[in-house]
Amino acid sequence: MLVDYHTHHVRCGHAVGELEEYVQAALAKGVVELGLSDHQPILHLPPDRVAPDSAMRWDQLPDYVEEALSLQAKYAGQIELRVGLEADWIEGQEEAIGRLLAAYPFDYAIGSVHFLGDWDITNSAELWRWAACEPAAVCTEYFRQVRLAAQSGLFDTLGHLDVIKRFGQVSAAQYEHLFEETVVAVREAGVAVEVNASGLRYPCAEQFPSRRLLEMLYSHGVPLTVGSDAHQPSAVGAGLDEVYALLKSVGYRQVCGFRARERYPIAL
Ligand SMILES: [Zn+2]
Ligand SMILES: [Zn+2]
Repeated sequence: MLVDYHTHHVRCGHAVGELEEYVQAALAKGVVELGLSDHQPILHLPPDRVAPDSAMRWDQLPDYVEEALSLQAKYAGQIELRVGLEADWIEGQEEAIGRLLAAYPFDYAIGSVHFLGDWDITNSAELWRWAACEPAAVCTEYFRQVRLAAQSGLFDTLGHLDVIKRFGQVSAAQYEHLFEETVVAVREAGVAVEVNASGLRYPCAEQFPSRRLLEMLYSHGVPLTVGSDAHQPSAVGAGLDEVYALLKSVGYRQVCGFRARERYPIAL
């Protein structure tokens, strides 16, 4: 049962392909459930600080949801389409994020820590910022934000849990001591965690989260979603065979999906 709960498309400004191309790619690859989860418009930076290739504009959001819903109807019976959003966790913006997620009939929301203040730690164009920081302190702050995201109750699943490793600026030894507290916070919050295959194609060369984290999540009974984080139609489902094999070896026998923000199990 191949499912992919993390995809983007052309509206975000740094992905290519229309939504329907992602649906067709999923059908071609035998994906039975596809989550459309483009980035939310940037809500915490002044407009003149928002790069046009960081996310869709606010005026594009209604069109995104409407198009996704119409594709859901069009492809009913061929593939289960889920309409979602990859939301940013921003400390202090809880109400705005909650309003945004309540304003549309989303099936699910991924909560991702991309930003530490105005620094997008997932953007390779901002790697220069590491030089001005103490890497261990960046990790401590990153995982503190992940815990706040979990505890906010705003999200159904947490995106790329250890994405701080993406560009190889830090080693696991610098942040592994933060795992236990983070996993406990996630379990207590009752939120799922995403296994994101995109890490396999970045310098960190492994999925998010690491095997060690996955083992801890398993022992705490935390449910998982899986996603490719595709930014082009040909990447739908990419890396998920590897992720499925890893999850089985860790002990997982199911992942989860969401419909109208209700979680349900999907056999691996
Ligand atoms: Zn993106
Ligand atoms: Zn992300």
